[in-house]
Amino acid sequence: MSKMASDKATQLIHHPYRAPAGFESPVQPVHKGSTIFFPDTAAMRSRTWLDRGAYTYGLHGTPTTFALEERLATLEGGVHTMLVSSGLAAITLVDIALLASGDQVLLPDNVYAPNKAFTRHELAAWGIAHAVYDPLDIESLIAALTPATKLVWLEAPGSVTLEFPDLRGLVRAVRERAPQAVIALDNTWGAGLAFNAFDLGAGQGVDISVHALTKYPSGGGDILMGSVTCRAKDLYRRLALARSRLGHGVAANDVEAVLRSLPSMPLRYAAQDAAGRAFAHWCSQQAQFARVLHPALPGSPGHEHWRSHCSAAAGLVTVEVDAQFSTARVDAFVDALKLFRIGYSWGGPVSLAVPYAAGAIRERGTDYRGMLVRFCIGLEAVGDLIADADQALSALRLG
Ligand SMILES: *Cc1c(COP(=O)(O)O)cnc(C)c1O
Repeated sequence: MSKMASDKATQLIHHPYRAPAGFESPVQPVHKGSTIFFPDTAAMRSRTWLDRGAYTYGLHGTPTTFALEERLATLEGGVHTMLVSSGLAAITLVDIALLASGDQVLLPDNVYAPNKAFTRHELAAWGIAHAVYDPLDIESLIAALTPATKLVWLEAPGSVTLEFPDLRGLVRAVRERAPQAVIALDNTWGAGLAFNAFDLGAGQGVDISVHALTKYPSGGGDILMGSVTCRAKDLYRRLALARSRLGHGVAANDVEAVLRSLPSMPLRYAAQDAAGRAFAHWCSQQAQFARVLHPALPGSPGHEHWRSHCSAAAGLVTVEVDAQFSTARVDAFVDALKLFRIGYSWGGPVSLAVPYAAGAIRERGTDYRGMLVRFCIGLEAVGDLIADADQALSALRLG
């Protein structure tokens, strides 16, 4: 230590000890920092964080965030990934970065509802038009495309109602008729495991994959984080610069928690897939449920598209309760569940259930007559979950 630092207060800050390099363990180190030191002014002037080339400021990246971004890019099959504070922030970052006054954006009717809300409020106020298409009807997408269409959102399957669209066909239609449009997919359900968004087959792929890491990558029901992954470097740079100007940051301890959960994600996804299918099958045998919505279940809307795109399914199951049961009866059924807790989100260890009024969540109209209940399968034994739903069915007595 230099002679200058004789005071303990200074010594505690400018301590000469450096731990030896070469420490390795199964976990990624948690690097924290708003300030990042430069060895000299030349380094300060020349360093750039873009493409993960160097460290400049905590907001723009640390070894911890760069490590998670690289792993997610590999998971999703893209070139580069950037982290943001939530899945919804990932969606709005894409909108803000790519749309300007006079442009138009397209959304599937079954898109994650807050995506629609942002479009209707902020984007509309900024002079950005939108149209809502039927995800199971490519003609309705084609009819909505205009020369002003700059962004097309896809989601597979749709939120709550879980219809699986013909992703390849939708992408092909946009490429042929609106080559100026960027195609973004909300890939939270597929999680990079059920299908490859950037290589859907037949030469088709999306440009951007948005992922709510809050769900399967976190796996704990305790972290909020999102990611945006791009297929091409120029688009990544455009979005990464917008991200830095908007000031999106993520907390190092949260990133470390996601890094810790990622290795078990394929196992958890497979377990929740198997349990979800067993639960969906049981639901399909209950007279109180008019319909079971699960893309891997034959007869579910878009099942054929799921089969031709996917090798797996997430653990989400929605039932349409027979229309003779009132909202109050369906609420009583959900309230009677003991293992399933009432709450939003999914991908964690605890199974969840939420009732929805189908008519209220779709603007193009639906043929769902009864209330919907969405189940998110956690990591409990599926036999116990089925027994729980079975005892709660006493709240839905027929006749
Ligand atoms: C949960 C979810 C989001 C938003 O993620 P948050 O981290 O909760 O903001 C976006 N899209 C889909 C499909 C989701 O399920």
